[in-house]
Amino acid sequence: MSVSGPGGFSPTTTNDVFMEDCLFCKIIAGQIPSKKVYEDEHTFAFEDIDPKAPTHVLIVPKKHIRGLKEAREDEAETIGRCHLTAAKIARDRKIEDGYRTVLNVGPRSGQSVFHMHVHLLGGRDLRWPPG
Ligand code: 5GP
Ligand code: ZN
Repeated sequence: MSVSGPGGFSPTTTNDVFMEDCLFCKIIAGQIPSKKVYEDEHTFAFEDIDPKAPTHVLIVPKKHIRGLKEAREDEAETIGRCHLTAAKIARDRKIEDGYRTVLNVGPRSGQSVFHMHVHLLGGRDLRWPPG
């Protein structure tokens, strides 16, 4: 699968974009299979392999960002776009009566993959506060 975008985006050539040994960079590049939900120039969305709700989609920036706490000012738009992609998927799936976007930050939160990702969870009642 090619992920070259309109701007000639090529995750395999730029270190800042594609990180070796990153699971989600490999999923974006098609080197590891995933159930793709959506893709645009900046974001890629796919089904979580271990879903915690009827809808559990992961939205990632195509550019490798390790996590929210490592994100830079110039990555603000990319982070916002991930959330807007989540909102679009929620709209498409008609789960707007209740969904949640979650960003786990750091090992104590449960972050296990260090390529920033927004979880989109919905399709069932969601308790508050989360665990
Ligand atoms: P975290 O715990 O870092 O916030 O979220 C990582 C998520 O990635 C988990 O929900 C986990 O189920 C999911 N995940 C881990 N490995 C894979 C994989 O190979 N494919 C897919 N689709 N999801 C994965
Ligand atoms: Zn990555």
